[in-house]
Amino acid sequence: MKSKRFLATLRVLGWMAFFFLLSAPAIILADQDHSNSFVIRGARVFDGHKVIGQADVWVDSGKIKAVGKSLKVPSNVRAIGAAGDTLLPGLIDAHTHAWGDALKEAEIFGVTTELDMFTSLQFMQPTKKHQAEGKDLDQADLFSAGSLATAPGGHGTEYGIPVPTLTSPSEAQAWVDARIAEGSDYIKIIVDDASAYGSHRPTLSIETVKALIDAAHKRGKLVVVHIARQQDARDVINAGADGLAHLFSDSAPGPDFASLAAAHHVFIVPTLTVLEGVDGVASGESLTTDSRLAPYLTADDIRNLKSSFPKSPTGLSEKYAEQTVAQLKAAHVPILAGTDSPNPGTAHGASIHRELELLVRSGLTPPEALASATSVPAAAFHLADRGVIAPGKRADLLLVKGDPTEDITATRDIVSVWKLGVEDDRASYRASLEKARQEAAKAAQAAPPADSAMGLISDFDDGTATTKFGTGWMVSTDSIAGGKSTGEMKVVEGGANGDKHALDITGAIDGGLPYAWAGVMWSPGSQPFVPVNLSSKKSISFFAKGDGQTYRVLFFTESGGRMPSQQTFTAGSDWKKVSLPFSAFNGTDGHDISAILFVGGPAAGKFDFQIDEIKLE
Ligand SMILES: [Zn+2]
Repeated sequence: MKSKRFLATLRVLGWMAFFFLLSAPAIILADQDHSNSFVIRGARVFDGHKVIGQADVWVDSGKIKAVGKSLKVPSNVRAIGAAGDTLLPGLIDAHTHAWGDALKEAEIFGVTTELDMFTSLQFMQPTKKHQAEGKDLDQADLFSAGSLATAPGGHGTEYGIPVPTLTSPSEAQAWVDARIAEGSDYIKIIVDDASAYGSHRPTLSIETVKALIDAAHKRGKLVVVHIARQQDARDVINAGADGLAHLFSDSAPGPDFASLAAAHHVFIVPTLTVLEGVDGVASGESLTTDSRLAPYLTADDIRNLKSSFPKSPTGLSEKYAEQTVAQLKAAHVPILAGTDSPNPGTAHGASIHRELELLVRSGLTPPEALASATSVPAAAFHLADRGVIAPGKRADLLLVKGDPTEDITATRDIVSVWKLGVEDDRASYRASLEKARQEAAKAAQAAPPADSAMGLISDFDDGTATTKFGTGWMVSTDSIAGGKSTGEMKVVEGGANGDKHALDITGAIDGGLPYAWAGVMWSPGSQPFVPVNLSSKKSISFFAKGDGQTYRVLFFTESGGRMPSQQTFTAGSDWKKVSLPFSAFNGTDGHDISAILFVGGPAAGKFDFQIDEIKLE
């Protein structure tokens, strides 16, 4: 929602791709039981609208064939006993930003459909193609807005990803047509001048918003609008928006807000879990200690769930949104569960369970909350094949222990998740995370590598880019994450302090990615990205010179996951020593360093710098 959050998450996107392509993936799913015909016997069935009591659900070739008491099925159909459990439609998260492993993680936690509200085309297009081909059944289905409509310099443009902006109503139809050509399932508009956060950004005029809405409706597409203030919510509802992508947190709802929403037949995705951040609350922290969820959370998820932005200085509060939810419920306005994952305080999949809890805290009954993540979003987004348990629907199903229609947190006690009748292999996923945790713990205890005691990594004085320990230097660029930055390295004459050689790093940063990089990488272990305990050292020092631009040192640590921490330095015309304490890199003590990079970017353009006498001290 807020710009800083988006910035952080978009950066994660790039680093995730980077990390995953360079290292052995931490998560390897085993072969699954691909039989997508079976009968689930005796579960309490919540059909998307209400509890229909104990029933059998027969799944045939990925679709629900029949629902009823004591169903007669052919004897070769596998039966799954589920007495005491509750069967629900697979959950739908109506506000996410999907990339990397988002959709896999979502499905692990019972979310079988994500409604994305802005991602890159590089992610959306191939994902939707695979989905249409019936592939990737171990990840949630994706529906996406693709890009978003915003003013030049408006929210959404600050990340470096090219966003096609517009300034006048006359551009609206062409803008909408272009999104539809790209594959957008619906249109997302930003109306947010940042005043809610005590800042300022350009935003679209209400005339342009109305023209976009009309243009989308002309093409039969829904329009969802991001707002932060109540007045904007009212304005876009009056302009004909189909739904709000957040509730406002700047004020208590006026007494007529819900009746306005009801009169205009809008649906609302409150995103309470991300709004808690404005109260300085790490909304997802409680999920990390819930034994029903924790074994399935990656180290990254846990870190993100525990994070939050500082309390809003402008008096924003999630409590206003909860008050509004209660008012909307009374007015029968459709309320959709959405998380805005992966913003701080959230994680794909896991956070839907927090959102359901917060919706109940706001006054929804548990069955109403369950409907907000199943039949209600399916109806609002015209997804006729899902969100309910009924003959002919997709067998996207969630089986949980206990009764979430009484205790909403029972949705966390997952027995099985199926997409199109294929069961997600949660056991293998859990085992792979456990293995990764054990390896990280082991690495933290390990002795430092031989030859690291002196601390010297490279002085290049043998005329090569080899190193005293760990891997040699290697070129690293964002091409691995779809970028077009280029880089080269070579050992050149004339090192720091009059020694013989230094490493020269040149290249060009392409402005197409918000996290663009190019430069060189070194890992302290025998293989790239194997973490090594270097906690006997306290800092990294090196000499640098160059074209006068600012460069970055990136640290990857095992506990820091896929997101590097960084420090900058300036490479001027004369050799200068730079010394950076480990603690400057997100507080690390160096016990699990997995890679160190010297790179240019993210600013676009050519670069040239040299490094020498790189030491840990
Ligand atoms: Zn969002």
